[in-house]
Amino acid sequence: MSEGRVRLIRIVPLTPIERRLLVKLCEGLNAVFGVECRINGTVNIIEKMRLDYLELLRYQYNSDRILRFLSDEVRVREGEKVLGIADLDAYVPGLNFVFGEAMLSGGYAVIYLRRLKSIRWGKYFERALKEAVHELGHTMGLTHCPRRSCVMSFSNSLRDVDNKSFRFCQRCAEKLRATAGLELPETGILK
Ligand SMILES: [Zn+2]
Ligand SMILES: [Zn+2]
Repeated sequence: MSEGRVRLIRIVPLTPIERRLLVKLCEGLNAVFGVECRINGTVNIIEKMRLDYLELLRYQYNSDRILRFLSDEVRVREGEKVLGIADLDAYVPGLNFVFGEAMLSGGYAVIYLRRLKSIRWGKYFERALKEAVHELGHTMGLTHCPRRSCVMSFSNSLRDVDNKSFRFCQRCAEKLRATAGLELPETGILK
């Protein structure tokens, strides 16, 4: 069943983030999904959200709370997906850390840059793009894919992230057509 075509991806910085990364990510997402991408003003969660005791001990944010915060702060319109980006380390209860989190078939996703850093800027950007595409894929109804090179494969470590592509396999691309009404451009699909 189709939930309506996705027309816009909106990037919402949740901490101060360098402009060139946001611009490149927008270009990358546009190239993969064939959907317009816009950069929202920053909604600074460090100023707006207080850490609870557990988070202070771990010096790590609870991703569920961040996702809830994002959905409270930013209204999602029809045909729109909102991607929060935070230069933080985050976890979900039961996992030591996460690179990102999304509402399955929902309006919101978030990625965390802290563990994606590299001394090589290009590598850092590539990792951020892969995680962004992956989490947005979840918002469009995709679950994890068994093909290791597909962007929807689950990443447990940076090595997993580095080994996968930022593209969707044929099967995930087909699924996106049904769930999000998207006809992916060639750039978005694995050969
Ligand atoms: Zn996932
Ligand atoms: Zn796949």
